[in-house]
Amino acid sequence: MKALKNLFLNELADMYDSEHRITKALPKLIEAATCEKLRHALRSHLEETEGQASHIDEVFAAFDEKPRAKKCPAMVGILEEGDRIVTENKRSPAINSAIIAAAQKIEHYEIASYGTLRAWAELLGNEEAALLLEEILDQEKEADHALNELAVAKNKETLEEVAIGAGA
Ligand code: FE
Ligand code: FE
Ligand code: ZN
Ligand code: FE
Repeated sequence: MKALKNLFLNELADMYDSEHRITKALPKLIEAATCEKLRHALRSHLEETEGQASHIDEVFAAFDEKPRAKKCPAMVGILEEGDRIVTENKRSPAINSAIIAAAQKIEHYEIASYGTLRAWAELLGNEEAALLLEEILDQEKEADHALNELAVAKNKETLEEVAIGAGA
């Protein structure tokens, strides 16, 4: 049980770091988006993301631990790659498709991480922590779902090379 608890706390610290990095990165994606619906979806997920960091505070508290962050090299890489794909497509009709792709990579990493953390919290017998993590997990899944729906329309525009700003 001690080994699993240590593993859990380290992964939680990794996601604490990730959420802070995502909070700093999302405004750049929002700014680059030319589709108002996409900007809106990303803005509302940015608000949720800010709340998720305080949710993680509560998960640490549920284990009588102080919140701590541990650098997540995976999120550093995902965000760096996202930054690159957005820069490369700045003036392209593909810009919104590129942003959706970058954002979905973030969401999928989060979904995998919180799914695992929730399962471990349950195994450790901490129902309060499991519920908080499930709440975050559901927000990540909903954000991913919203991006999926936007992708259908935006990818079609990209395919047809609709002028930037049109079809928003
Ligand atoms: Fe998140
Ligand atoms: Fe990580
Ligand atoms: Zn998310
Ligand atoms: Fe997120």
